[in-house]
Amino acid sequence: MHISQWSKTDTKWYLGVSCRKCGTPILFALDHSQGEGEPAAPQGKLLLTCCIAECRDQADYSTATVTRFQKQPVVNQAVRSR
Ligand SMILES: [Zn+2]
Repeated sequence: MHISQWSKTDTKWYLGVSCRKCGTPILFALDHSQGEGEPAAPQGKLLLTCCIAECRDQADYSTATVTRFQKQPVVNQAVRSR
């Protein structure tokens, strides 16, 4: 699956699901409707990995509820908490 451009720093709407393990939003696509209309259901298999370093839970979110998030993408995934 191709991930959209993450280089933009302005706040946009993203489609994502909540991590089954820690609940952190996992964003997987840019929402081109800019917050209007129904979130488009993902096509095919949606295998996502949590962006939290301490979690890294990978699961199949094909049937998960897609939620819309307005935030900046997590760019630095190498941040350590200790
Ligand atoms: Zn997680």
